[in-house]
Amino acid sequence: MKIGIPRALLYYRYHVLWETFFRELGHETIASPHTNKTLMDAGSHYAIDENCLSSKLFFGHVSALEGKCDAVFVPRIANYGKDGVMCSRFEALYDMSANTFRGHEINFITCNVDLQQKCPEAQAYIMLGLSLGASENEAKDAYQKAYAAWQESHEKHIQEEEAKLHDDRIKILVVGHSYNLYDEYIGKPIMKGIEQLDAVPICSDAVDLKQAQTDSLTICKAVPWIMNRELLGAISKYHNDVDGIILLTAFPCGPDSMVNEMIIRRIKDRPILNLLLDSQDGNAGIETRLESFIDIIRFRKEARL
Ligand code: SF4
Repeated sequence: MKIGIPRALLYYRYHVLWETFFRELGHETIASPHTNKTLMDAGSHYAIDENCLSSKLFFGHVSALEGKCDAVFVPRIANYGKDGVMCSRFEALYDMSANTFRGHEINFITCNVDLQQKCPEAQAYIMLGLSLGASENEAKDAYQKAYAAWQESHEKHIQEEEAKLHDDRIKILVVGHSYNLYDEYIGKPIMKGIEQLDAVPICSDAVDLKQAQTDSLTICKAVPWIMNRELLGAISKYHNDVDGIILLTAFPCGPDSMVNEMIIRRIKDRPILNLLLDSQDGNAGIETRLESFIDIIRFRKEARL
């Protein structure tokens, strides 16, 4: 079976796990292409206006897989327990996709991670394996290998980002969800822009996920969304070692808008630039703001020498 994986949202967090899991069960995977204007426009066409830019892009990526695979994988990830709530879009993603593409030549497969309903991640993947014709042992084995591969790649990523802290140039912690940071059309140009200004971007997803939950408490104890707590954990981990912080948010993101406001009020010892990404104006104006932000940091740094 050829399984399509939309290159959006949790793809950037879990693609190693997903690709390994399906491969171990003998299936081929294909990811949708990197985001471009056509995919962005397709996403806007299929999504309702109220969707955030990141989930609009997701629908563009689903549409790009039509006719290219036997089934498209869209997980439903509701929560990792009562303290691990996800943004509601991840809970609704499978149903939204199935409804949006009703009548299209797309079959969907899913897995349901919902600890509050006693469905932990391992069980969700075993059920998915069973639905694809694997035995319970085969599915369990595939999940264990996939989880180990994901863990290894994540640890390598953390080491790579931590190594950048030894660079003498200006270092900027870029705080955003991985699907925004690494998207070719919305986040990557900002990363490249920072590098072109002779500064070093450090990505906020380079944290041990459990440790980040604990570290987040030093900034705020009342954030319900697990992924936003990870972002706070990244600020707590890196903020003494960087010269500035960029908050990268897709419009209109409810969790980020509330949490960013709180970050700006509470983190006073580092300059913060709040960048809101919107499909309407793309990155227009962002380059200028980025340049001014890094220039100010550079002037201040030189003045202190
Ligand atoms: S956290 Fe924000 S950007 Fe991410 S899916 Fe939810 S609304 Fe969209």
